[in-house]
Amino acid sequence: MPLTIETFPSGPPPTNAYLVSDPATGEALIIDAPPEVTGPISAALQRAGVQLTRIVITHGHWDHIGDAAALHEATGAPLVGFAGVAEKLRHPAANAPVAIPPSDLDATLADGDLVQLGGSTFTVMHLPGHEPNSIALYSAADRMFLGGDVLFPNGHGRTDIPGADQATMDHSLARLKDLPDDVVVYSGHGEPTTIGREKHWLASKS
Ligand SMILES: [Zn+2]
Repeated sequence: MPLTIETFPSGPPPTNAYLVSDPATGEALIIDAPPEVTGPISAALQRAGVQLTRIVITHGHWDHIGDAAALHEATGAPLVGFAGVAEKLRHPAANAPVAIPPSDLDATLADGDLVQLGGSTFTVMHLPGHEPNSIALYSAADRMFLGGDVLFPNGHGRTDIPGADQATMDHSLARLKDLPDDVVVYSGHGEPTTIGREKHWLASKS
């Protein structure tokens, strides 16, 4: 049975949280915790009757972690992400437009780690550039790339902000150009795309 995925755009600016579920086993994971997403996600979890196994944080920007503490408290599911995200969770940006209660990682993920969801296996890719702690979860079998702010339709995450670096971003993007064309890219903001649709510009990255 294929995985199901539900999108929860939340917060200003609208940032996507994803609920990814394996209907065969009733297990689910959440990608990112934008501000004010806890209510809608809690309702969806109850409705679907699924067991949440992890909350995966793709990177430490405030619009992706605003509800990390609330979501963790509401669901009891462990918060996981790249090691450096822990610092961002403990000391959320004071200049964020919304108040962000502190939280902490329960476990860290590194490049090459495997994340199990029911019968599916995601590989963790560390893809810095937009933010030093950016990770994606990739499953070739499920044709899914859950990439936060790494890859968008016709472009990549901003590199003109503190902590970002274009050369590092290009190196990360180069790792994506050989993924299969029909892999669906679920981005941190806006609509999904596919690797195939982005190949024309990804091809130049090295
Ligand atoms: Zn970001």
